[in-house]
Amino acid sequence: MEPGSPFRKYQTIQPDAGYPVGKNLHYECLVCGQVIPSMPDDDLSCKCRNIMIDVGYGRIKIQDHAKARLFGLDKS
Ligand SMILES: [Zn+2]
Repeated sequence: MEPGSPFRKYQTIQPDAGYPVGKNLHYECLVCGQVIPSMPDDDLSCKCRNIMIDVGYGRIKIQDHAKARLFGLDKS
């Protein structure tokens, strides 16, 4: 981990309950390794499109939950 970087608090993704979003929440794709914020300014997907966020519809789509992680940033 880089010095001074915020601490990542990983959470369990429960697809049946819907995908949580928040300013501090980020999704990490374990296929391509990209991290994307859960509340981007514009539609966003990771490089391999395992995780896709549709801002207009407020929806998050994840193809393979086993290959995705969710974490919040804890600055303390
Ligand atoms: Zn990906």
